[in-house]
Amino acid sequence: MAPQVVAPSAEFDWPKLAFDLYPTAGFVKYVWKDGSWGKQEWSDSPYLNMHISAVGIQYGASCFEGLKAFRHEDGQVKLFRPDENSARLNHSAAALSMPEVPKDLFLEAVHTAVARNLQFVPPHAPYGASGSCYVRPTLIATGAELGLVAGREFTFFVYVTPLGSLYGSAGGKAPGVDAVVVHDFDRAAPMGTGTVKAGGNYAPVLKYQARAKAQGYAITLHLDSKTRTQIDEFSTSNFIAIKKRDHESDKPTLVYPKSESILKSVTAKSLMDIARSLGWNVDHRPIAFQEVVDGGFEEVMACGTAAAITPIRSITYLKDDGEQAKVSIGDGQNAGPRTLELLQNLTGIQAGNVEGPAGWLWPAEGVDAAKA
Ligand SMILES: *Cc1c(COP(=O)(O)O)cnc(C)c1O
Repeated sequence: MAPQVVAPSAEFDWPKLAFDLYPTAGFVKYVWKDGSWGKQEWSDSPYLNMHISAVGIQYGASCFEGLKAFRHEDGQVKLFRPDENSARLNHSAAALSMPEVPKDLFLEAVHTAVARNLQFVPPHAPYGASGSCYVRPTLIATGAELGLVAGREFTFFVYVTPLGSLYGSAGGKAPGVDAVVVHDFDRAAPMGTGTVKAGGNYAPVLKYQARAKAQGYAITLHLDSKTRTQIDEFSTSNFIAIKKRDHESDKPTLVYPKSESILKSVTAKSLMDIARSLGWNVDHRPIAFQEVVDGGFEEVMACGTAAAITPIRSITYLKDDGEQAKVSIGDGQNAGPRTLELLQNLTGIQAGNVEGPAGWLWPAEGVDAAKA
């Protein structure tokens, strides 16, 4: 039997839903001690009580995930590929000397966090245009230590917030944004923590992002730190491009950078699968920034859970002589046709308007408040 539908709260001003953090009913947490995870606990206050010498605070043993739940036309709520986030959280946990969060525990946690907040999942709209429920699993070392050790206690918690759609009002015409290459800071080193969703990866990027915003650039692009010639990714999203074709009739080729230091995006992985299902070529290989400069791509986009796809209309960079230059992409304004096709398919699958691969939406029958 399908779970009973819990409707979006009538008190919430859904049309005004923004890209922001909202109060909810609470969050779920588990504490690891003496070699195993404890029982699920629920907190209706959005605070965590922590020792001031917690390893997570002092030494940065903290990682996170981001995924979304969408309300479908029948009112049911489903999460997009939580098993992928579970696997990636454990990749991060291993890198930061924290215990594994078993997949069953991860799924139980995200299920409870959403199930007890179903009233904060926005109403259904085709292609998720009315927004989603953003889910933030976090793993942090809460054991108190003075010496440099992993510690004896860890906390895994999951909270949610309703989240507005960036393109809800764009009417299928996602506007492009201007990107800028960060030449004076390396986000991640080869063999470093670039593949790890570690909290500490982000704070150092903030000031470069703020500087870029002040100069009119919405998004910052990082090249590989060893040679500064290959494309890695944007600060919080992956890079995807559509190769320029020789003939109009050629099928599209989606190109995705191969690099040791990028965060492996679930969105990028899904878009590659979608591209293959559309009959396109998918090319996973190192991408020289020069290929962008030479006009090798018809379209460029940033992809990640928060915004799904952000079309890029230009990339500004510094030439070898230190002069600033700008490459225009596509028509230099709006998303190209392939970007829109990918966006429609991805958000269509997420909101239940487009049939996707088996297992991408979980649970199959919908999040069940009676089981939380
Ligand atoms: C989270 C993140 C992404 C996007 O990953 P998704 O799984 O698609 O949300 C890309 N790059 C960085 C640096 C990230 O932190």
